Order: sequence, then structure tokens, then C-alpha cells
Amino acid sequence: MRHLLHFFQLLLVLLLASTPLALSQTSSHGIDLTDLDRKTEPCTDFFQFANGTWRANHPIPASMTRWSKRWQSGESAKDRLHDILEAASTDTNAPKGSSDEIIGDYYGACMDESRANARGLDPIKPWFAKIDSARDIVALEQVIAEMHDILVQVPFALGSQQDPHKPSWVLADLSASGLGLPDRDYYLKPEPRFEEAREKYVGHVTRMFKLAGSDQKSAAAAAQTIMVMETKLAEASLDNVALRDPAATDHNTTFAQLQAMAPHVDWAGYFRHQQIPTDVDMNVDEPKFLEEVDRQMHETPLADWKLYLKWQLLNSVANSLSAPFVEENFAFNEKYLAGTTEMKPRWKRCVESTDRYLGEALGQKYVERYFPPEAKARMQEMVRNLLAAMRDDILSRPWMSDDTKEKAMAKIATFNPKIGYPDKWKDYSRVEIRRDEFFEDMIAGRKFVEQDDRMQIGKTVDRGRWGMTPPTSDAYYNPLLNEIVFPAGILQPPAFDMHAVDAVNYGAIGVVIGHEISHGFDDQGAQFDYLGRLRNWWTDTDLKDFQRRAACVVDQFDHYYIEKDIHHNGKLVLGESIGDLGGAKVAYLAYQKSLEGRLRPADLDGFTPEQQFFLAWGQFRGDEIRPEAQRLMVQSDPHPIAKYRVIGPLSNLPEFQNAWSCKSDAPMVRPEGKKCDVW
Ligand SMILES: [Zn+2]
Repeated sequence: MRHLLHFFQLLLVLLLASTPLALSQTSSHGIDLTDLDRKTEPCTDFFQFANGTWRANHPIPASMTRWSKRWQSGESAKDRLHDILEAASTDTNAPKGSSDEIIGDYYGACMDESRANARGLDPIKPWFAKIDSARDIVALEQVIAEMHDILVQVPFALGSQQDPHKPSWVLADLSASGLGLPDRDYYLKPEPRFEEAREKYVGHVTRMFKLAGSDQKSAAAAAQTIMVMETKLAEASLDNVALRDPAATDHNTTFAQLQAMAPHVDWAGYFRHQQIPTDVDMNVDEPKFLEEVDRQMHETPLADWKLYLKWQLLNSVANSLSAPFVEENFAFNEKYLAGTTEMKPRWKRCVESTDRYLGEALGQKYVERYFPPEAKARMQEMVRNLLAAMRDDILSRPWMSDDTKEKAMAKIATFNPKIGYPDKWKDYSRVEIRRDEFFEDMIAGRKFVEQDDRMQIGKTVDRGRWGMTPPTSDAYYNPLLNEIVFPAGILQPPAFDMHAVDAVNYGAIGVVIGHEISHGFDDQGAQFDYLGRLRNWWTDTDLKDFQRRAACVVDQFDHYYIEKDIHHNGKLVLGESIGDLGGAKVAYLAYQKSLEGRLRPADLDGFTPEQQFFLAWGQFRGDEIRPEAQRLMVQSDPHPIAKYRVIGPLSNLPEFQNAWSCKSDAPMVRPEGKKCDVW
């Protein structure tokens, strides 16, 4: 189950926002004409038409893997966080223990690069000593429990998770973890690109061990040992597609069952350390994985486990150590795997680190300065309109029975939109941050994040919690809470613009809202009922029809190639693609509905309101992406690449064909019988 949320959180970093929302009234405007590539026909390649010139004129910066107006504005949002943090770090009057002091000191310590460089490996030496001192596997398991406290959650992870059968309650969730490569397939697939990645990974692990003081021979041997252990863990793990199925990770487990599943793990000791009673309600995502952990605990030599833990620790904290570690980590994870050629400046990495561990302390400052109440009110209205349109859309579906429709209406009625920022902020006053030691601050931040999560276990769910920080330029749907969440960071141009015409806002943030609502009815979301329970609410016939419609989308995306022999995995991107298809459709309906009883808006710059709507989506989604990042995404990310998030849904929509008067054999019009129609 944890992975379910993990994927929603992967939605992360759509990164928006360029200029602060101006509060003064300016004249309204439509889409940006200079983005268009007029040499391309909209009915041929709408992605190129809507946004081709912008992409041609704005090459991807060396430190980024993707680039578009929304990535650009997301980076600008970091400039604002930078301003906040620079001010906080130089403010000598900040009260002791205040958010200002905490984020200012954290950022100030992070910026002291020479201190990090002077310390070298010193910050993790106590951890290495702890690992080395373990005399047996039980002692080593105690170290594993301590590593979990600082978010080095290997080889399995513990987290809080709503009970999918009683979503008002939070249980303890044990999930699979512990791989250094992006996912299972990297260890197991025979294709040359995966084989190469494995070779490079072994080289990378070797170099990290050398930086940590090993000689070449023992570092290389350590890397081989780790590769063997991780490959076995990978074999026992579910793949990306299986992990999208909520039922595949739904295993209510008692403590006795857990002990029987993995008898060589000292679970009593582990639970004691985590301060969780053994009679806690618990879910084990992947029992087979824990069985493999158990086998290795039993059969793998203690010395190998020590190497594995040292590696995982190094891998997790490399970015907070001295320059050689930071550089080696960058060279493999960002340069080799994702294609970035230059590291982000330190201030930006420090901004990101503050957001990661002290996110609501920083976020509170952000919304005070950059999120006007008018933006929230406007969003609330749009969300209401989108939900109403989704209701109409579902009711109009001839294939769905009244019985299933009634259940769907109940689900729409309990949708909870969260906009901007949490009503109640997290209290960071007990986090001990010092101005002079960044590594210890980072560990304190991690402990806070871990404790904050751990404390939810065995309690009634707190519905006010947020899974993203306010400055995040992204949005998510959580099926267990049936909530759609839009942090302040996404409520900026080009997604949301107080001064743009309605067609543009509905085409950009409107489709994002519709996308998140549609997640409630995608292949995952549709398995959760109006109370967030993992429980079927469909009649058999309706469910079969829904699955047949979803299979059309799987087939559509299976045919989108990014290279000669690499195509999207339709099953992996199914949820997101249903979200985009439903999102575009429902936002279009909501826009049309908003025009009822009003004078039809004028054409702008030669484009009808409907054309402006679709152009806004094409421009909002207009990423250019590096080939390496594209390969990584197609392999591991449930989101399709931007090109197909434009072409994919729009080529299914008769509304798009009509708006642009496309001939029925145009490339942007899927032939009859191949058009997918879910929502
Ligand atoms: Zn999504």
C-alpha cells in the first residue's frame, strides 16, 4: 500500500510558477502566441504546434532533465524560497526555536560547503563504527532499526498507512526497499541498456567505497557482494506494474504471522525500538520480499551485511558529505541515469533540502508571501465546477448502470479538496538545528520526518495532514482519504493565472484538477469506495465494461515509442493516462458549462475559446526532455512523457477534433474503433 502513495507522490515536481501573483488588476490575456510552431499543423502534431517554438528557443539547462514553462517557473519558485532562506539565515532577531530561526540555521549550515568538505567522511564514521561493532545478526538488526530512524530504510521500510479496510485507522506498513538502482527491472532485465546500468552501478559503488577509505580490491569486491544481495532482493520484489494493483500489496498481518514469515529477524526488538506495540494493526506489502530478507539474514555472512548497510548509508547521505561524495553521487544518479550535465548550485540544493525536511516551516513563510486568498477562492470555485462536471459526465455514461452510478455519486460527494496549504502547521520547535553542523541538522530533519510519520501508527487518521509541502509545484489524489490536493506551488502561471481568460485556466489547471478527480476513478482509484475502503462498488457488467475501456488506453500507450525498441508500458501509465483523458474531457465540459447563460467569449488572436482551451493544455504540458531521462521515465514512472500526455488524450477526444476541424484521418484523430473513452 505504501507504494500506492509513493506513486502519487512521484507526481512530484511538475514545478510551476514564475512570477508572484500580482494583486493589482491587469487586463486578461489568452495563450502565448510566441510558443506556437505555426509550421506544424495542429491536426498533425498538436504537441509541436502548441509549444514547438518555445522549446526550440529554450534549450534544457545543463542542470535539468526536463524543461518547459512550468519547469522554468518551478525553478523560479526556488528563487523565492532562496530569498526567504537568505533573509532568515541573516536575521539575528529571530526568536529562539521559531520557524525563522530553524530554517535560517538549517539553510545557513547547509551553505557552509567548506565545512562539509573539511569534515570529509567524519560525519558517518560513528555509523560505520556502529555497523562494524555488531557481533551477530541480532546486533546488526539493532543497527538497521536505528538506520530506519534516519530514513535509511533498508532492506525493508516501516511507515504509517491508512487501513484500506478501515480508512479511519492508521496501521503499521512494512514495505520492500533496499535497492540502489531505480527499480527491480534494472537488476533482472537482459537488454543491453540494463546490463550497462548494472556495470556502471558496480563501478559507482566501488568508487564510493574507495572514497570511504577502502582500497581498490576490497571496494570492488564489496560492490560485487552488494550487487548479489540486491539482485536477490530485486527478484523477490514486485515490479512497477504489479505495485500499481492495490490488492497485490494488501496483506493484513499479525505479529505472529510476521514472525513466521521472517523468523530470523528479531521483530520484537525492532518493534520495541520503534515504540510500536506488537499487537498493532499491520500490513505487509510484499510477504515474499520479507521471506527473502529473512533468508539473507540467515544465510548471508554478517560481513556482507555490514558492507550492504555501509553502502546504503553512503548512498542515502552522499549529498550531505564532502564534494567528492556529492560529485560521485551526481555522476551516477543524475548524469549517467538521467542525462543532466551540471549540478545545481549549492544554494538550490540547500533550498531543496530545507523543503524536504522542514517543508511546512519553510512553506508557511512561502504562502504568507506568495499565496493570496483570492487564488484560493478562485481555485475553490473551479474545483466545485470540475466536480459538478465529473458528476454530469458519469451520469451521462450509457454503459454504466444506475446502481454503479449511485455509488460513483456517493464517491464524488465525499471528495475532499485541499488547496494551498494545511489548516494546521507542523510544529518544528523540538527539532534541534545548529548553525555550525549541516550533517547533524540533516539527520535531525530526517528524524523529525520519520517520527512525524511513526507517531500516526495505531491512531485515528488525521485528515488534515498533507503529503506535499506548500511550495511544491504539483498535485495529488489519495484514494484512502478520497482527497485532491493542490499545493500553493502549482497555483501559479502557467497552470493557474488570475489574469488569464477562463479558457486558458480551464485548459491548464482545470485539466490538472480534472486529472486528480479522474484518479478517483482510474484503474486504482475505482477500487476504493466513497469512504476510502478497498472494496468493489461496481456491478460485474459495469466493471467489465470499465476494464475493457481501460484496456484501450493500455493498448494506445503500448504503441507510443520513444526509441526504436523502447515504448511506453501501457499498464504502468494506465492510471495517469486515464487521469489525463478524463481530466481533459471533464475540464472541457466544466468550461462549456461555465459559459452557459453568458455571452460567448470573443476569439482571441484568431483562436476560438475551445482552441484556446486545448492550446493551454499543450503549452502547460510542453516539456522537452533529455533522452536518458526519457528512458528512465518510460521504465519507472507511472506518468507518460509530456508529448504523449498531450497527443494521447487529445487524439481520443471528438471535442478536440471539432475545435480544430481535423479530418477524420488526421494523425491527431484516432480512428473510429480505436478511440478510447473512459470518462
Ligand atoms: Zn496523476
